[in-house]
Amino acid sequence: MPKIEKSEAQWREELGNERYRILRKAGTEAPFTGALLGNKAKGAYVCGACGEPLFASDTKFDSGSGWPSFTAPAGAEAVAEHRDSSHGMARTEVRCAACESHLGHVFPDGPGPAGLRYCINSASLDFAPKEEGSTDS
Ligand code: FE
Repeated sequence: MPKIEKSEAQWREELGNERYRILRKAGTEAPFTGALLGNKAKGAYVCGACGEPLFASDTKFDSGSGWPSFTAPAGAEAVAEHRDSSHGMARTEVRCAACESHLGHVFPDGPGPAGLRYCINSASLDFAPKEEGSTDS
């Protein structure tokens, strides 16, 4: 698994203040504000810091939480999970496996067969639309 390492100064310059706060300092965007929250297009959700594919559009669902939500990562090794006991809660943090940027948390109350809900900051993601022929949509 390739590891991407950059200095904090490099990340800050590349990401800008808000994305740096979320991706590199485990911040959280305000709910119902993310640009990708309502996105229903087909494609890949990739890491906002390094571009690795993290989630596929066919696993996205509307959880009502105010953050983009997925039932599964794009692959078994796409994301890494870490215990997070900050803010007085026992949660499981989800990070990009390639660059270790913060994505969000995973909770055991999802609708899919695995019963998981990946609750992910929109600001931690970029969207790569699936490129297909010019079919009507
Ligand atoms: Fe990454």
